[in-house]
Amino acid sequence: DASAPLLAIEGLEGWYGESHVLHGVTFDVRPGEVVTLLGRNGAGKTTTLRAIIGILGKRRGSIVFDGVETIGMPSRLIARLGVGYVPEERGIFASLSVHENLMLPPRVKPGGMSVDDIYALFPNLRERSRSQGTKLSGGEQQMLSIGRILRTGAKLILLDEPTEGLAPVIVQQIGRTLQRLKAEGYTTVLVEQNFRFAQTVADRHFVVEQGRVVDMIPNHDLDANLGKLHAYLGV
Ligand code: ATP
Repeated sequence: DASAPLLAIEGLEGWYGESHVLHGVTFDVRPGEVVTLLGRNGAGKTTTLRAIIGILGKRRGSIVFDGVETIGMPSRLIARLGVGYVPEERGIFASLSVHENLMLPPRVKPGGMSVDDIYALFPNLRERSRSQGTKLSGGEQQMLSIGRILRTGAKLILLDEPTEGLAPVIVQQIGRTLQRLKAEGYTTVLVEQNFRFAQTVADRHFVVEQGRVVDMIPNHDLDANLGKLHAYLGV
């Protein structure tokens, strides 16, 4: 069913130890969509991604991916269903080369990109293939971190603030990459502070406030809703 969501989250609650931070997150993502989670610092955006990939200690509610309820599953099984997580801190192994970093995560599903496909997507990485992870620029590290997930065969990509701290020209390159992945049928959940960037890639925006999704703004309505959005983001 083409109209069935690829990811459907309902009443998601989450905790860090005793600290209750998600209070009923509800949203869904259709196949091939790019959606963003927008909201202030501490609203619960990163925690929502961590809950989806299953690395949050305690979760309750429902997260259905590709028809499978994942709320009780360990993260390695969720990854195997085809969910890839690119954390904000990128997780590049400093002592390994670019090539070794790309080869590191196991293939979890058939149909992942080859290393050559990834180098075609990010030509800078091909040039740096023998460089150590730490020798890369911030933009190259971000590309490596995205490329590594594409090799696994994941079809849902969870991206946490990929543009943070990057130069405008690199931000544009990441934007083009996301559009290209969308054209190839990937589905993306993007946490983003830069809503001007978000606007160039997303179909819909979900506003997160105090551990809940409080609003949804279709991308084509974003400009008409700037006042509301500024109030949500406190800018
Ligand atoms: P940011 O952009 O600042 O990361 P966010 O919307 O992604 O914002 P989260 O990182 O999801 O917010 O944080 C949600 C809440 O959980 C905040 O109150 C934060 O202080 C708390 N929190 C985040 N990480 C931890 C942790 N490891 N242990 C305890 N509390 C945490």
